[in-house]
Amino acid sequence: MGNLIFMGPPGAGKGTQAVRLANALGLVHLSTGDLLRNAIKEKTELGMKAKSFMDRGDLVPDSVMIDMVMEPVRQAVAQSGFILDGFPRTLAQAKALDKAFLDEGIEVSSVIHLHCDDEVIVKRLSGRRVCPVSNQVFHITDNPPKVAGFSDAAPGVALVLRDDDQEHVIRRRLEVYRENTLPILEHYRGARGVVAVDGLLPVDTVTELIMNSLQVK
Ligand code: ADP
Ligand code: AMP
Repeated sequence: MGNLIFMGPPGAGKGTQAVRLANALGLVHLSTGDLLRNAIKEKTELGMKAKSFMDRGDLVPDSVMIDMVMEPVRQAVAQSGFILDGFPRTLAQAKALDKAFLDEGIEVSSVIHLHCDDEVIVKRLSGRRVCPVSNQVFHITDNPPKVAGFSDAAPGVALVLRDDDQEHVIRRRLEVYRENTLPILEHYRGARGVVAVDGLLPVDTVTELIMNSLQVK
């Protein structure tokens, strides 16, 4: 069971579930948001270009994203397969991915749509804290680390609030999701089918539902 695409609004739980499924199934978790934040940390040309878009809650231009994602995807396919988290986010990205996969004989096993409510999303993202070293994700009340304020994966490392997890930016990201990303679901529904999973359910239940949909025991 390889090559999964996770869709859904920011805060639906894509990253949380992708890490769990990647561990359980031995897949490579590819988060385009993490790739961009790592590029910003390393002050690469790509990172500099992306930062202002991300801070506003806007999408980074398609050409930059498509160039960025294909090589890591190929590497993941050569290993064990991927879970794509945060890509594609526009119809142009979805079509570029379709074409590349067709040309290279790469098959997608499942497209999973985690859906969620706007107000829950605002609460989740305002309380989200991330480990700047491992990218591990927590929530101050719903999914707290063992030691408040500090990472589990990297002991002693203080957790941070992402620059774009402020309410006005979160609301902009939700608008951008509705406008640019939702139409991709129609594209996938027509082409291959999409598995819908309720992202409001507890983390363990969501994992189980995804596993069941993949018929993995
Ligand atoms: P996404 O990758 O879709 O943006 P995350 O996986 O980073 O979302 O989750 C956003 C926030 O919500 C995090 O703080 C995470 O701990 C929390 N979270 C994720 N899934 C659930 C869930 N099913 N129930 C409650 N909180 C959750
Ligand atoms: P995420 O970590 O998935 O919440 O993404 C954080 C931000 O990174 C988004 O708000 C966008 O600015 C940018 N980003 C991540 N993935 C993409 C993508 N596929 N296309 C365009 N921008 C992206």
